[in-house]
Amino acid sequence: MVASWLIEAATSYNRASLENRDSYSAFVLLPICHLETILNWAFKSLPDEILIGFDPLNTMPIDTDVVQTCRGAEHDEDLFAGQGFVLGAPHLVNRGDSFSVHHVPEEWMDDLFANDRGSRGARFTHWMHTHPNCVAIPSEADADASQHTDGVDMIVGIEFSNPDGTSFWFDDAEGVRRSLKPPKRSWRRFGRRVQRPILGRSSMGHRIHGLELIAYHRTGVGVNVLLVDDDGMPHGLNTV
Ligand SMILES: [Zn+2]
Repeated sequence: MVASWLIEAATSYNRASLENRDSYSAFVLLPICHLETILNWAFKSLPDEILIGFDPLNTMPIDTDVVQTCRGAEHDEDLFAGQGFVLGAPHLVNRGDSFSVHHVPEEWMDDLFANDRGSRGARFTHWMHTHPNCVAIPSEADADASQHTDGVDMIVGIEFSNPDGTSFWFDDAEGVRRSLKPPKRSWRRFGRRVQRPILGRSSMGHRIHGLELIAYHRTGVGVNVLLVDDDGMPHGLNTV
């Protein structure tokens, strides 16, 4: 079962996605159970980044009511590969620093994923990577890496403090920020008079305080994200 703070965070995230749908030319549906799996991997790997690959779940086309509700005024239904389908299960591909995490030898990918990916080989349709202690805004290297992506690229920004209590959060980047945090009124559950909630801990003792999540296309446009349940329905939204 998905943690209640993540459901609350997803609900307010989805509301913002819906309010801003006209700013995006496409959207992608990420199951919240997959996001929780990814966050567990990401938290355990701190302070390293991780790289995740996805394929579209071809057995789960996006519900037509959801499309009607989530499409914006400038919607482009042919922007990226796999656009009509909910995202499939995540695969943890690599772990490293911001440079090494994007460099995965093709033959290694073939070995790693040959069994469950068959003839599709090494390439995933969609990619996601984490930004430990940095906003979820694509760097120049991210924009370059996305040129090889057929689907969308996603970034999870992770705000955390170190085991010794120090913290550093880099937010000197231009772009649209998308916070993924439970609403402030529910922070009491994390302790009395809490300044920052603790959403998770790494195996080395880092404390996670906040998250951001964005998606973008190789042409440079942002892609709206909605977090969905196991049936592909966005949390907290009433579809038409
Ligand atoms: Zn990056």
